[in-house]
Amino acid sequence: MEEQSKLVRSQSSRSHNREHSVPLYLTSSFVFDDAEQGRAIFADEIEGNIYSRYSNPNTSEFINKVCELEGAEDGLAFSSGMAAVFASFAGLLRSGDHIISCRSIFGSTHQLLTQLLPRWGITSTYVDALEPQTWEAAIKPETKMIFLETPSNPGLDLIDLEWLGTFKEKYPHIILNVDNCFATPYLQKPIKYGIDIVSHSATKYMDGQGRVLGGVVVGRADLIKEMMFFIRHTGPAMSAFNAWIFSRSLETLTLRMDRHCSNALAVAEMLESSEEVESVKYPHLPSHPQYELAKKQMKQGGGIVTLVVKGGFERAKKFLDAFEMISISSNLGDTRTIATHPASTTHSKLKEDERTQIGIFPGSVRISIGLEDISDILKDLAQALEQSK
Ligand SMILES: *Cc1c(COP(=O)(O)O)cnc(C)c1O
Repeated sequence: MEEQSKLVRSQSSRSHNREHSVPLYLTSSFVFDDAEQGRAIFADEIEGNIYSRYSNPNTSEFINKVCELEGAEDGLAFSSGMAAVFASFAGLLRSGDHIISCRSIFGSTHQLLTQLLPRWGITSTYVDALEPQTWEAAIKPETKMIFLETPSNPGLDLIDLEWLGTFKEKYPHIILNVDNCFATPYLQKPIKYGIDIVSHSATKYMDGQGRVLGGVVVGRADLIKEMMFFIRHTGPAMSAFNAWIFSRSLETLTLRMDRHCSNALAVAEMLESSEEVESVKYPHLPSHPQYELAKKQMKQGGGIVTLVVKGGFERAKKFLDAFEMISISSNLGDTRTIATHPASTTHSKLKEDERTQIGIFPGSVRISIGLEDISDILKDLAQALEQSK
């Protein structure tokens, strides 16, 4: 079966009620047929659900779909994207270990690496997406993981995943961990290049409708098993209800992404031709400095466009305030088009020079392109540029 058919058709096994759509398994625990079955499931001799902190038919179905998409051996579902990212560190690393991370990462992941993990003796070094030649020099004997996001948020810089995969040959003990949230596994499949684990905020495009929080990590079975021990005993499990929502949403992921991407490309082209815009970044726009790489590792350019308006901070604020349809919010990956001013919101905790380093300027605006009719999105952007002059 093709990928899209598998996303629709793979589901947990039908109950004696012969339901067509998978029901919601709101149960905290599961019963055993007899004492022997309970013993064997606890001993890992046979597979079976015990308790929803460990597994549940709804979360298993969701995980299986993500594994299918990413080409992964196994996976785990979490209550949020941050729970997933945290577990990918805490479940696999110990005190004394070192992480190399690309500098342009999600805000809370930055806090985790710089403020929280050092409390438990896990340190990290930042490297730059656009200076791959510096990465190898950052490796220390205690380096156990390389973490990154591509495309980056909101700079939309890319890291060559095929190149990253070559680290495996020289440093087989280093775990390669990619947050694939921006691209989604429909557009980009890091495991194909030798990446060990892939983490996601499912909150974004996997739900895609701005409703529920969730996260997922998939990848090498031995690493997922090690992380399973961590999550069983610390409890960041995804709720059955959210898993049920995500699983239904994945049935339409490719359809939604096709439209997000075609709308986003049209927006990027329109903004590039505007006199009021200083610069536009979109991976599949020929003017993107890494256009060739984007074409190679991303099926399409994704749903995010970043622009810098002329006139800096004040103009950017006026531009946002002038929207008639587009929402001002810090979220992304919704059916509704959303504009964010990173310098004053998502990245306001960074110092000015730290923001510049990752491509955020006072006039930068990130737009998460939604699924409205493209003519309405273009009209609103054009009138807001005009109004904010
Ligand atoms: C949103 C996001 C996260 C965090 O996910 P939550 O579901 O909000 O906890 C992590 N990484 C990236 C790239 C994100 O966009």
